Amino acid sequence: GWLQKLSAGLSKTRDAVTGQLDRLLGRAADPALLDELEVALISADLGMPVVERVMGQLRAQMRGGNFSSADKVRDLLRQSVLDILLPTQSASMEQLVAQGPRPFVILAVGVNGVGKTTTVAKLTQRFRQQGKKPLLVAGDTFRAAAIDQLQVWADRIEVDVIRHRPGADPAAVAYDGMTAAKARGSDVVLIDTAGRLHTKTNLMDELRKIKRVVAQECQGAPHEVLLVLDATVGQNAIAQARQFHEAVGVTGIALTKLDGTARGGIVVAIADTFKIPVRLIGVGEDVEDLQDFDAKAFVDALF
Ligand code: GDP
Repeated sequence: GWLQKLSAGLSKTRDAVTGQLDRLLGRAADPALLDELEVALISADLGMPVVERVMGQLRAQMRGGNFSSADKVRDLLRQSVLDILLPTQSASMEQLVAQGPRPFVILAVGVNGVGKTTTVAKLTQRFRQQGKKPLLVAGDTFRAAAIDQLQVWADRIEVDVIRHRPGADPAAVAYDGMTAAKARGSDVVLIDTAGRLHTKTNLMDELRKIKRVVAQECQGAPHEVLLVLDATVGQNAIAQARQFHEAVGVTGIALTKLDGTARGGIVVAIADTFKIPVRLIGVGEDVEDLQDFDAKAFVDALF
């Protein structure tokens, strides 16, 4: 089931963090134990603000004589992280779509290579399986391969995709997408966008323009600006989130490739820094590996 996949996907991060804890298990909780744990948490990319806060709590507990073994440290660590993650725990994409207006418009943003197109496609497939009528919009007109990749997915999932020639204005594709969605009675529109790294200013302008066009065609849209981030880049993901959030106002985050990294603590750093809900996590390449984020299950799998 999905819990096994989650657990397998987080194994590298778990080994990095709780490998330390396990090694120390049974030992009395001494300051050296906490120092070693602190290093493990930093390398798992929970981010310094979180690490400092959590370690402060743990050290205070130890001074108060509240624990004497690594097991207790684990419990406290688990609770501290849960306290950070739970407030940002939110509705799943399915719930958002079910409760939201029709068509529900999702604008997917993020830099190239993070898994944006794959995430959009996996999400589309899930909507399709739930009997919804999704429409894909190929908004990355900058790379011909991106349009083709989305088309391949669309053919496989058997959904329509609105596409223009490479080099076309992405806002024009978005406009056509909105018109088509209304005409065809689509339940949910998923707009894939460009993510070229080197000309960021233009990219952000482009995304803002897409957003304006979408809002003009459908009041309140986009209903979700989903930022896709790659967990393997660690703290760089924070910098990316800041840029996209400033430019287009991110409302949800999908964090991919947690299976490929020992830096899975980045989920915690992101939730803590931006207070933006992490909606989805990617723990592998298969469709089932795109999971709704569940704070409790995540913490259980991690510690
Ligand atoms: P884009 O440039 O952001 O659209 O990235 P793509 O969607 O083309 O994905 C880049 C690569 O990342 C592809 O090979 C995907 O299969 C892979 N990928 C996406 N999500 C995950 C994930 O959660 N885990 C792993 N291991 N690979 C992923």
